[in-house]
Amino acid sequence: MFQKILIANRGEIAVRIIRACKQMGIETVAIYSEADQYSLHVQIADEAVCVGGNKSSESYLKMENIISAAISKGAEAIHPGFGFLSENARFADLCESVGIRFIGPSGSVIEKMGNKSKARELMIKANVPVVPGSEGALKNIVEAKKLTTKIGYPVLIKASAGGGGRGMRVAYTELEFDNAYETARSEAFNAFGDDTMYLEKYIINSKHIEFQIIADKYGNVVHLGERDCSIQRRNQKVIEEAPSLISEELRQKMGEIAIKASKSVNYVNAGTIEFLLTGDDFYFIEMNTRIQVEHPVTEMVTGIDIVKEQINIAGGEELSFTQEDIKLEGHSIEVRINAENPKENFRPSPGKVELLHVPSGHGVRFDSFLYTGYQIPPFYDSMMGKVIVHGKTREEAIKKMRATLDELIIEGVDNNRQFCMRILFNNEYYKGTFDTGFIPKHSGSLLGYDDYE
Ligand code: ADP
Repeated sequence: MFQKILIANRGEIAVRIIRACKQMGIETVAIYSEADQYSLHVQIADEAVCVGGNKSSESYLKMENIISAAISKGAEAIHPGFGFLSENARFADLCESVGIRFIGPSGSVIEKMGNKSKARELMIKANVPVVPGSEGALKNIVEAKKLTTKIGYPVLIKASAGGGGRGMRVAYTELEFDNAYETARSEAFNAFGDDTMYLEKYIINSKHIEFQIIADKYGNVVHLGERDCSIQRRNQKVIEEAPSLISEELRQKMGEIAIKASKSVNYVNAGTIEFLLTGDDFYFIEMNTRIQVEHPVTEMVTGIDIVKEQINIAGGEELSFTQEDIKLEGHSIEVRINAENPKENFRPSPGKVELLHVPSGHGVRFDSFLYTGYQIPPFYDSMMGKVIVHGKTREEAIKKMRATLDELIIEGVDNNRQFCMRILFNNEYYKGTFDTGFIPKHSGSLLGYDDYE
């Protein structure tokens, strides 16, 4: 097993990974930008190396600086967390080329699944159901329009390199098509430097259901059940839960397909297969080849520490459990707490945390890098942390989350606590009948402009 790991990330996920390493008796090296000198991950790691300037492009994305830090500190492996270089095939290859283990799948697998239109093509070949649409990438707008006439409106125009809900637009009618295509294309080019597009039927009233996969290098692949991540704003997740409300029969069926999808690319390490579900029909939309923000809800219902498993797998160990050992117990919910102002179109709101009070208790977890007096820098993602609860039933979990958010105090920075609280009090949310259109549908009441429904 590794004796020292470098964590190529910041924020709550860096803290989360360092904690797992400490519990495993592994030494840790943090990296940080100039702006992150006082960040919690730097303080709790055994060693820390400044890798560059404030902007991510000057630090957390600087591959050579990060690899040099790992070499100079004698780290044998790098955990990339999520975001930044976590899905960068070149970085994974670079690590391996200098004898440092990348904690994740190989560069070639990242390459295959990271490009969404390529992944779609591969899944079609592997007989995994995908949303009706283009086979792979589109040649041009003319081809896109022709295909749309065949599959019918509404359609979603998506970027192959897309992520974080960017580079996608819906066209409900032919009149909207040109504008939707152009906007999605130019957004993709600006965000990812790649304007390769593909097209899918827009599935209205669908749920986002994703399966957590874990696979070792000996061909053992197990799924840890699913998460419902349908509560989204602009196609980005806000609240997640595990398990979802699907039947046991459907869970088995979807789980088997998720395993088949992973096996078809010889996947190794932790990954997520994302599906859209409408009725009992489900379609693959993408695979994320890394740890995900919402992994704790799966940990809470399975009792498995996914980060420790990632490290064990990268260290060459065999999975210590089989599919039969996986039992989903109780219910878990996660709320992402962001430094933002919902009433000002969710404008990011960095600043100084004047007071932090975090409730704790049975089945309550707070994954965060905040502390009282911490100055949140303006250069990175606005997520400050995640509140995660576990209850015997979904109802108990919801009530526990309401009570926890009610007591949570983060003074000094605007945040989305109240917005999330209103979701937890919404009747449709409570009944579980929501789909990915939930937030737009209830935006008035969630922002406090209408009475509670
Ligand atoms: P990203 O990689 O940017 O996260 P995804 O392909 O994972 O993009 O999709 C993010 C979200 O966008 C989904 O959870 C869903 O809400 C919505 N979405 C994506 N594809 C479709 C589709 N074909 N029909 C309806 N909604 C979709």
